[in-house]
Amino acid sequence: MRVYFDNAATTPIDPEVLREMYKVMENQYGNPSSIHSHGREARALIEKSRKTIANLLHTSPSELFFTSGGTEADNTAIRCGIIDNGIKHAISSRVEHHAVIHTLEAMQKAGIIKLSFVDVDRKGNVDYNHLEELLKSNERSFVSLMHANNELGTINDIERIGELCEKYNSIFHSDTVQTMGHYQHDLSKLKVHFMVCSAHKLHGPKGIGFLHVNHRVKIKPFIYGGAQERNMRGGTENVHGIVGLAKALEIAYANMEEHHKHIQGLKTYMIDQLRENVQGIDFNGEVHPDKSLYTVLNVSFPCNEMADMLLFNLDIAGISASGGSACSSGTDIGSHVLNAIGGDSSRPSVRFSFSKYSTKNEVDYTVAKLKELCLVSA
Ligand code: PLP
Repeated sequence: MRVYFDNAATTPIDPEVLREMYKVMENQYGNPSSIHSHGREARALIEKSRKTIANLLHTSPSELFFTSGGTEADNTAIRCGIIDNGIKHAISSRVEHHAVIHTLEAMQKAGIIKLSFVDVDRKGNVDYNHLEELLKSNERSFVSLMHANNELGTINDIERIGELCEKYNSIFHSDTVQTMGHYQHDLSKLKVHFMVCSAHKLHGPKGIGFLHVNHRVKIKPFIYGGAQERNMRGGTENVHGIVGLAKALEIAYANMEEHHKHIQGLKTYMIDQLRENVQGIDFNGEVHPDKSLYTVLNVSFPCNEMADMLLFNLDIAGISASGGSACSSGTDIGSHVLNAIGGDSSRPSVRFSFSKYSTKNEVDYTVAKLKELCLVSA
């Protein structure tokens, strides 16, 4: 049996998305910047896709810019949001994705900003009082806090963070890569300036995503070249990718409730089965359905093998998952997220992440393998 429980890393492409993309690659191959009919057809597809996404998110198409994915969108929001608005202080947390942390650290190193990290508790929750203190004691900050953590699943209250940022006249960027297409986002109400999406996390293609830039914040062009993306991002557009992204988001929104229920059911079942069958396990991050992504379950095991060995053995059994231990030696290994929440470095941790294609049979097979592996190594 082969089991794919690494959907927070990437998801299999939906066949319906694939069919749409294939049609575009075969037929609408014109350059969207060309003014002839082939070009105009491709351009129309891009704008139709932008409109579809804008309608789903309750925003204006003028606030959406297609990018090569989450990393580019995060980098752009952070660099342009800070530099183009003359911001000197940024607030983030140590459990953010490297697309955020490394960008901010590079800017700090270059002397562009002072960087503060807000405290997080042992489950990865932001300390909102500390966040307010940091906002209060600095003039105008750029705040970058993710909606949900890709390793732990813990969800931040981005409505509350948005309110706080507004109160202190600050700019708010949220890395929403793990929640776009999995939760509803109403951008007409949320007080967020920048949000991001990566299609391959929601059964769309790799190498395409978007950056949402609220009209209340201004940024300058971020890739110089042609006049694509309303002069903001030069470069011939990934037309089939954009069409695939819009289709994937459309499917996700049309079936969100059903998928949520199915996947949360599997996650809860796996939690129960693990508790029953594998002694001494613990969960990293929040597991309560209101506080945790329904797609992610991070488990720490009592097995005294190294984390890599556990993942390796799961791989041998045909189960793909990811994770790693907290850093035990001070060298640059292990998960920066588990280290930041004070994870136990002597125990291997594995992140299982599910999708609409995951099944109960796969959970049963995985739990049985884990039971076997932990007994052998105990
Ligand atoms: N942010 C988060 C929270 C992610 O999980 C990822 C992907 O793992 C990214 C950003 C980067 O997205 P992409 O793979 O599209 O560059």
